[in-house]
Amino acid sequence: RASGRKSEFLANMSHEIRTPMNGILGMTELALGTRLTSEQREYLTIVQDSAALLLKVLNDILDFSKIEAGKLELESVEFHLRDCVETALGIMSAQADRKGLELLWDFSPDMPDRVTGDPVRFVQVLNNLVGNAIKFTEVGEVLVRLRCPEREGARARILVEVHDTGIGITPEKQAMIFESFSQVEASTARRFGGTGLGLAISANLTARMGGAIEVRSQPNQGSIFSFSLWFDGCGASGRPIPRFKGRAAIVDDNQTSRNLLASVLESWGMTVVQAGGASEALNLAGGGSPAVRDISLWLIDLRMPGMDGIGLAKALCERGVPGESMVLLVPPAANRTEDPGEAGLFAAQIRKPVKEQDLLAVLSGIMADPASLNPIPAPDRHLEEPPPPARIAEGTRILLADDNPVNRKLATVMLQKLGCSVETAN
Ligand code: ADP
Repeated sequence: RASGRKSEFLANMSHEIRTPMNGILGMTELALGTRLTSEQREYLTIVQDSAALLLKVLNDILDFSKIEAGKLELESVEFHLRDCVETALGIMSAQADRKGLELLWDFSPDMPDRVTGDPVRFVQVLNNLVGNAIKFTEVGEVLVRLRCPEREGARARILVEVHDTGIGITPEKQAMIFESFSQVEASTARRFGGTGLGLAISANLTARMGGAIEVRSQPNQGSIFSFSLWFDGCGASGRPIPRFKGRAAIVDDNQTSRNLLASVLESWGMTVVQAGGASEALNLAGGGSPAVRDISLWLIDLRMPGMDGIGLAKALCERGVPGESMVLLVPPAANRTEDPGEAGLFAAQIRKPVKEQDLLAVLSGIMADPASLNPIPAPDRHLEEPPPPARIAEGTRILLADDNPVNRKLATVMLQKLGCSVETAN
């Protein structure tokens, strides 16, 4: 009973514990938006990172006590499954990229478009598994596969697999990692951080959503964590499949990434040739066989060992490949400055991991009428220094009521930055 009471206490304290974190994170963000010496900026960035980490731990503990106290409620709303997954993974791909890992995903065509369930908790499980996969992998890739193996009327079972090429888990330890507060080795927390609660929470959430979570793993080879769950209100699968004619070349040193892109393009009706690097691509272009001459689309990865994507594009240009047929694949949240020789070299760029909608938009432009193609604006490269917020609410008068003085101050400054005049009441 005492343990039950403790869980209930924590679940009730959730608001009290998170509120000051809000103050710390919010005020740090505001401070980072002001003029600072580089030393001050460095210190505040550390405050921000530490606070974000602490919030993650708090959220784990609070969620866990909510589950223990039987107070966790699931939502039921309609949402777009693919967009939801692509957004969540898009955010995590920056984290993978910092470790030099490729984060990839693969949706099978039988997946329903819209589903009804709890998107926040679904993404929480996904984030947790993908976060672990990135955390415990030093080289290679993390691949997320989604399938729909079963349907019963408007209900569908969705199976999500997260493959990594990381440190793996021994068979003896595989059973225990789903228990709360457990990590494979006591040293794990010190080496990698974490509470040992993520998988316990994920297992509970998955069970509540009608499914289960499993692991298959080989030490030093990698792990596959999979979870399946049932969604209601699933419409027929997929949006209409786009159709394109012609031949595409994909140049990327990562084979999984190439295969995934190839299968999307093939499902849209194109034929695809692949090259694992610049020299292979130049051989293709130089070979001059009819199959290669009529390539109407080149998808070129920027980052490749040896000659990079820009070098390759220049070389292809010299061999008469038109710039309008070349698309550059840039790493997630790429923080790079454009090569001066790069201007006009490509018809467009797409940020990796490639979202189906981005690819479709670029292809529709290139395949329809190359001459009319407007290059896609380069992805924002200045994530580090966001521009000041536009004063979109200039002149609006706001009455802000909040009993918490820190929240009041934080919201006041944020609103003033948008141009509002603010009066507060406690
Ligand atoms: P933590 O917060 O410690 O990551 P989890 O419950 O998410 O807690 O994971 C429990 C333990 O399972 C981890 O500490 C780690 O030892 C092991 N583990 C989880 N995912 C992986 C993975 N993809 N590869 C290797 N080990 C993993």
